[in-house]
Amino acid sequence: VSLVSSRGIIRASKNPDCELLAAMALEEGNEKRFFKQLTGEEYPGEYGERNSARRRGAQFEANAHANDAARLKAALSPFIHVSPEDMVVRNFVDEFPGPINRIHAVRLHRVRRILRDLRAGRPVPHLLIQPTLALNVIDAEFGAFYISPDFLGFDPAIGMYRVGELKSFIQRDRASLDPEDLDNTRRQSAIGILALMDEAARHSLTVPEDSLALFVFSTPFGLKPADPHQERLLAEIEQIRRGVSSMRAAAARLAGMRGETDTVLANLADDLGTHYRESCVGSCLLAKRCESKDATSPARLGDNAVRVFGREDLDSVARLLAADPAELLEFQLEIRQKAQDAAAVLGMPYDDFVRMIA
Ligand code: SF4
Repeated sequence: VSLVSSRGIIRASKNPDCELLAAMALEEGNEKRFFKQLTGEEYPGEYGERNSARRRGAQFEANAHANDAARLKAALSPFIHVSPEDMVVRNFVDEFPGPINRIHAVRLHRVRRILRDLRAGRPVPHLLIQPTLALNVIDAEFGAFYISPDFLGFDPAIGMYRVGELKSFIQRDRASLDPEDLDNTRRQSAIGILALMDEAARHSLTVPEDSLALFVFSTPFGLKPADPHQERLLAEIEQIRRGVSSMRAAAARLAGMRGETDTVLANLADDLGTHYRESCVGSCLLAKRCESKDATSPARLGDNAVRVFGREDLDSVARLLAADPAELLEFQLEIRQKAQDAAAVLGMPYDDFVRMIA
């Protein structure tokens, strides 16, 4: 089992048609280091979670975990159907602290013992804080990755744990939450659910297909846990499955490319396919590189342009839009019609629209 950040899998799930992204998710935990290996330059500017956000998240977790997780137990009691006083907690942060690359094997072993107890009908803890699970990305023996949900809460209605995430986002109401933060949190939980399914299967246990996750965000007052809510994550689970299968395909491709000679990913990057799209900007360090590499792709004009022009290169699109319609084939006429519709929506003359693309 090797170490991978859920972050890499989340990114692969957002653009599963990009082979290079999937390869990075597999092999490169440190995206800035990879950028430097690839380009020979430091990444200019900020990237990733800000230190202030990280500190805030750590403080929120510390508050929730203090005094035998008193606040977290109180928040989760209605879901776990046990009073906070009677709730049994295993806090793996306290039980087995240490550097991130050393702790997971031990925590995974302990979680597996708990699942064995569950299978045997013995009592199990109600709440597991920062447990480790293994997600089978390529195979269970050599291609599984450690995944660490913020907590697992035992749901007696299903006789199994639910995956939960603790986030310091301030929850005034649902509308006050940042959509990107929420999307990442949902995908993170979807990874946890898939890893829990893999672990459960090892012990002949099942996780229900209802795919509910528990979220605990912060009240606006002093970084305390707000009332938890449950969400069904069917779409996110599907997206993560697509990301994982693109990582699996990338692993096979990389093995074939390396053959007998091992080499770092940066040396193979130019031969891996990319799939530039609007969301690359702001979500991938290589956005500028891919945009300029794909200089004639409609993706440079945004995802709507791809919907209108497909993956035709912009030079031929510009030629066909300016051509005499009588000379065009049916599929080219369809593209022309879509361009006319787009110009109308934008409120601009068709000729100006064509000049803009050229
Ligand atoms: S920027 Fe490039 S490497 Fe990154 S996701 Fe987009 S296409 Fe893939």
